[in-house]
Amino acid sequence: MNLIVMKFGGTSVANIKKINNVANIVEKEATKQKIIVVLSAMAGVTNEMQSYIDEIESNEKLENDLILTSGENVTIAILSAILKKRNINSIPLLGWQVPIITDGNHQKAKILNINKKRIMDFLKDFDVIVLAGFQGINIEGNITSLGRGGSDTTAVAIASAVNADRCDIYTDVDGVYTTDPNVVSEAKKIPKLAFEEMLEMSSSGAKVLHTRSVELAMKNNLILQVLSSLTQKPGTLIVDDKKLIEKEIVSGVSYSKNESKITISGIPDKPGISAKIFGLLANKNINVDMIVQNISQDGINANITFTIPNNEVHYAKEILENNLGKINFKSLKTDENVSKISVIGMGMMSQSGVAKKMFETLANMSINILAISTSEIKISVLINEEHTDIAVKSLHDAYNLKMKK
Ligand code: ASP
Ligand code: MG
Repeated sequence: MNLIVMKFGGTSVANIKKINNVANIVEKEATKQKIIVVLSAMAGVTNEMQSYIDEIESNEKLENDLILTSGENVTIAILSAILKKRNINSIPLLGWQVPIITDGNHQKAKILNINKKRIMDFLKDFDVIVLAGFQGINIEGNITSLGRGGSDTTAVAIASAVNADRCDIYTDVDGVYTTDPNVVSEAKKIPKLAFEEMLEMSSSGAKVLHTRSVELAMKNNLILQVLSSLTQKPGTLIVDDKKLIEKEIVSGVSYSKNESKITISGIPDKPGISAKIFGLLANKNINVDMIVQNISQDGINANITFTIPNNEVHYAKEILENNLGKINFKSLKTDENVSKISVIGMGMMSQSGVAKKMFETLANMSINILAISTSEIKISVLINEEHTDIAVKSLHDAYNLKMKK
């Protein structure tokens, strides 16, 4: 059985006219194979839901996830109804009906299992399944959400579970760009990218794909295509790096303003302290990114600086301050006005001088580097947020990315 997964993001289903356009695309594909469509909520709706949660200051995990996941219930029902009007044999499914089983980590739940047999049974009876993205159910029977942007992950997970021939992610841009075109107008569309590059781009701020969806696609070697629901031109293919003819030294520049810096000063310079600090945060599921520990001047006290997402900084601060007795620090400072700039490329692995060019370029713009972290295919720096745009522009120029075809 030929089968593809097509995922449409919030901007592609923002109103009835746009959902009709999605129906056109699905209708065309449905003549060729069976289809699982995965949808987001209408653009802005999940934000609106979050604002209600904020307004009532709800900490109720079950209720919050019911509120958050409601937007997808609406879009799948609308699309499926439109498809049926066109005599397409379609069925709308919520996460729990599949079921998409997740862990109990509300608001950032991970998918544990998808019932393949049930999906295959549905596909015997129906030509198109319209599945709600972003939601699942835990073993206690409560609805969970996968974290903002999570419907990409639903699409990849379902495509992997059923061995789909393709997973197309339709969005409002026609592919992955060398950097954010809103910041650098000369940014170019990248025709083909390695999973690893896309993973680094997503986790360092590029908003095209949910990071976990890329991780999952890479693990299952599932080819992804990012394309626009408006133009339907070929988009960006994300593939195994063995399928890349030429590995770019730098393929793209990404940035994230969603970073906060925490500096803890005057901690005892002895073994076990870092383990304590990061253990406390890990226990609460807080993701730490860059870490810098300086050498203590006096051999007694040290300082440690690290970054975490903006929305977790108050929580992290609270956890650490409540454990002052265990860590014994003198002061703790937070700074939300920082951003992370990353340059990414598979070819970096075998090429020297990439970091030097990055640091020189920033120095020429008098931009101070607050922290650095690297992987084999990525160099990231932390800078003051006000310099984000100029840093991204200068680096995009420095690595000649606007010359790409
Ligand atoms: N509607 C959810 C969100 O806005 C999930 C998604 O769109 O991927 O985060
Ligand atoms: Mg998205």
